[in-house]
Amino acid sequence: MKVGVLKGNGIGPEITAATLQVLEATGLQLEWVHIPIAEEAVELYGHPLAPQVVQALEEVKVAIKAPLIVNKGQGRITCIQKDGSEMTYPSLNNAIRRELRLFVNPRLLRGFEGVSGRHTDMNVVVMREITEDMYIGWEHRIGEVAAQAIKLITREASTRVARFSFDYARKNGRKRVTCFHKANVLNFTDGLFLQCASEVAKEYPDIAFDDYMVDAACYHLVKEPQRFDVVIAPNQYGDIVSDLGAGLIGSLGLAPGANIGEKAAVFEASHGAAPDIAGRGIANPVALLLSGALMLEHLGHQKEAQAVVNATRATLGADGIRTRDLGGTASTQQLTDAIIARLVQELE
Ligand code: NAD
Repeated sequence: MKVGVLKGNGIGPEITAATLQVLEATGLQLEWVHIPIAEEAVELYGHPLAPQVVQALEEVKVAIKAPLIVNKGQGRITCIQKDGSEMTYPSLNNAIRRELRLFVNPRLLRGFEGVSGRHTDMNVVVMREITEDMYIGWEHRIGEVAAQAIKLITREASTRVARFSFDYARKNGRKRVTCFHKANVLNFTDGLFLQCASEVAKEYPDIAFDDYMVDAACYHLVKEPQRFDVVIAPNQYGDIVSDLGAGLIGSLGLAPGANIGEKAAVFEASHGAAPDIAGRGIANPVALLLSGALMLEHLGHQKEAQAVVNATRATLGADGIRTRDLGGTASTQQLTDAIIARLVQELE
């Protein structure tokens, strides 16, 4: 099984090394295909997401991706398309998703015994639409005095993410899908997103459906996350709300995710490249390695995926081995070794 590896930057290389070690300990025959990205791709091909990089990702179809630094105000990137035309994206991370036609970013926000306090039983999946909304990057300056951005919401993309979310709910025994929006103010854009979700909901009478204005949703998520099960959100709200949820369960280092498309899937943590702690060996690898477990599940290895999840939960919970973001003292490698020891027992 070939799996692409984008080792990212900031804490990326450290948590990627940890993730590969854990996935290798499952005993599955995984062949890592290193795919250059960002600075490395610039050195090799003269572009951070050169056509060769996109092609390599299309060939492997499944990849683990660590976070990539995007500097404020300087993230825009233009990619040459197969027909010779150009597409400009607001950031490298956005460009990877859109070049590969990935359309939904599920982010798992599940509490951990011994770590998440009053949010231990939180278990919410945020289904973030990732092809449009404000993140299409259609913005421009109006002289020195103003700037303008366009928010794009289409029926096609909204219906697709809603259908994916309801199918996911059915397959995973989830009972409720909730749409986050701001349709009282953004009548046409968020109004259309909500309308599409409501229409799709009618095809799934076995799954409850409701909706919240995103501001009130944040309030309820903090006060009583048990209200929520599967959440569908446009790109920007999904991005923000999932970081909020990660804070509630204890750390951004605990929230795994995936970017799913028709032809490819890229598995990545919800968090960024954490430059403030990069290179110190203290980053929490759990979000990326649980993204790796999602990848194993996607590839049909449910048993190994579940073993990685169980081992990780037992190490953080019962064993109390935790990195600094969780109030512990373990290094990235110490936590990784402890998870691997648990994993080996789990698989026996
Ligand atoms: P961040 O998620 O990198 O960090 C926010 C805070 O959480 C920091 O204090 C950081 O130390 C901590 N944190 C994050 N992940 C952690 C982990 N695994 N273990 C321990 N602590 C962790 O957000 P930011 O600081 O806003 O962004 C940093 C860079 O990452 C920026 O350049 C941003 O553009 C980029 N970014 C990339 C992605 C991606 O690759 N998908 C996503 C978000 C941000």
